[in-house]
Amino acid sequence: MSVSQLAREIKESATLAMNEKARLLREKGEKVIHLGAGEPKSKVPIDAVLSAATTLTTADIRYTPTEGIPAMLKAVVRYTEEFYNKIVGPENIIISNGAKHSFYNLMMTIINPQDEVILIAPYWVSYPEIVKMVYGIPVIVTPEDGRFHPRMEDIAEKVGSYTKAIVINSPNNPSGVVYSEDFIGEIVEFCEKKGIYLVMDDIYHQLVYDGKVAPPVYKYSKDDSDSSRIVVLNGVSKLYAMTGFRIGWTVANRKIIAAMINVQAQNASCTSVVLQAAAVGALTGVQSGVESLRLTLQNNRDVMMTELNAFTGIKTVKPDGTFYCLPDFRAYSNDSMKLSNFLLEKALVVTVPGVEFGMEGHLRLSFCGTIKEIMEGVARIKWAIDPESPNEIYIGDRKLRRDWL
Ligand code: PMP
Repeated sequence: MSVSQLAREIKESATLAMNEKARLLREKGEKVIHLGAGEPKSKVPIDAVLSAATTLTTADIRYTPTEGIPAMLKAVVRYTEEFYNKIVGPENIIISNGAKHSFYNLMMTIINPQDEVILIAPYWVSYPEIVKMVYGIPVIVTPEDGRFHPRMEDIAEKVGSYTKAIVINSPNNPSGVVYSEDFIGEIVEFCEKKGIYLVMDDIYHQLVYDGKVAPPVYKYSKDDSDSSRIVVLNGVSKLYAMTGFRIGWTVANRKIIAAMINVQAQNASCTSVVLQAAAVGALTGVQSGVESLRLTLQNNRDVMMTELNAFTGIKTVKPDGTFYCLPDFRAYSNDSMKLSNFLLEKALVVTVPGVEFGMEGHLRLSFCGTIKEIMEGVARIKWAIDPESPNEIYIGDRKLRRDWL
């Protein structure tokens, strides 16, 4: 079978591959703990369910306009005003099949072959692969060792005549770091001065802790014109625990949106009307679920930090947002892929290797599961790699003995 050169170059999604391995082990009856998950476990908001059900029961389910149904566009207009104090119209918005699809369509729309897109490590695994899928070149900026916060001067150094866009994601998957006000201000100014697209992936923007706020890009933007190069991506997956609904959106200037509509018309036609109705329900319904998810995650984060801080040799930057942290495991291994596979095999814990996010020697641990999973998961990791920990552990009612250290 002949597969295109491009397809051969696209990496398997590390997270999905780990999930599959874990699923197979679970099927065999193994007590796997999932610290690799990228989705909250809370229930979908009831307003979303009812709204989708009402639409479905009409039994009149058709194509929608490519950019989205008017009610969904209106909900995003209101969201943008409420959270960013930014006035946009429906012509500035397109609804896609998840923020991942939004990012893909955006890249298709703005990137020419060989254009460079600056990504900041640690970055979300899909950015470099998607950039490559449109024949662009990902250029990675890695912050100083031990910090997951970029510096403007390091970014500026990598910007050249081929730079078309800079992508930032704050709160950041996988580090949980929220970029500072100063940095966001600087990068907005830099991009507006240079005419470079600034793509803000805001999918975790409400999931921040300890009263902090993730500074929005619009706050610093001076270009209110129709040629503004600021693009914001968001969706219902994380805030409303609606990963299965596949609804995301892009807010950008009119010309970009018009071009994205053409791109999306050819690669997806539109997003399902049932799922858009669900998203409208989530966005316009009772919002208390977001706050209770945020509080649960904040508590989970604290438990995760307590457990990791008691782990000799592990260094962790405390996450201010998201539901991930990215501890440094280099005291135990420099090969995160090997370590992650080892932990799944020996301790039945799913983690995601940091190398996938551009941070070798680290593992992404997610704390969107239960407190029990977090505590037991970290205890198992400790048992598997820390020679100072007791060499016996119970997994379910099986007593395991460590004989490899
Ligand atoms: N951006 C980031 C940073 C993410 O972590 C994710 C989901 N893992 C997405 C975008 C895509 O979300 P979705 O396609 O489910 O809307």
